[in-house]
Amino acid sequence: MSEWKCGGCGVVYSFEEFIALNKIQMVADDPDPIKNYGYTPVCVCGYRFHLDKWFMKSTGTIFHYVTVFHNLLNICSFGKLCKPHEIRVDISTADLELNLGMLSKGDIYYESMIFPSRRGGGVECQYQERYPGKEWASADHQHLRYLLETGKYLISYRWDGYDRKFVWVFDLSEEHNRIISKSELEGDIVTESPEPTFAHQQMLRKDSKEEREEMKKGIEELTKALGR
Ligand SMILES: [Zn+2]
Repeated sequence: MSEWKCGGCGVVYSFEEFIALNKIQMVADDPDPIKNYGYTPVCVCGYRFHLDKWFMKSTGTIFHYVTVFHNLLNICSFGKLCKPHEIRVDISTADLELNLGMLSKGDIYYESMIFPSRRGGGVECQYQERYPGKEWASADHQHLRYLLETGKYLISYRWDGYDRKFVWVFDLSEEHNRIISKSELEGDIVTESPEPTFAHQQMLRKDSKEEREEMKKGIEELTKALGR
């Protein structure tokens, strides 16, 4: 059994109820949805699952010196410290719409992940955190941004025996303090669409008070009908 929660009105559907909802094409001008992008359910409040889901995304750059040895070499060769390596980071927090926590810890609908990358190679990152509510997810997203901007992360290396090369590994570490001065290394990260809530947008889209009231009533009736 799975539970799906509308990101607009908050109604929770069982799997059977969820697949019985009206559907629309994922991509409006898709000539063959069965072959290509498929369909997505639409809640009675008008929320389109997957398409209208809430998310926060922050993108920017953090820095990393490779090793002390690297710096020493640079000082011997060029008489100065080497330039920090730029690592591009994406912090993504989203409404999963699907309850992942049902069996164990209670409701879990939100998730944050970090995606670091660099020129000339990847950066491994296992970071993933899940939350029951939007407020929690949103607050943690800002906290992750703060940790990255203030250098509270660690870049280490792992030997990949198969490809015979070192792989960069990213770890969050609140205790981590840089040896190198922070002013030079402060990350620069920007948050896009910080609070796009579908319900709010829908309410604004409705012109009259009557329409808004009607939508509210519809949501209440549905909640009652589903016995929740
Ligand atoms: Zn809804």
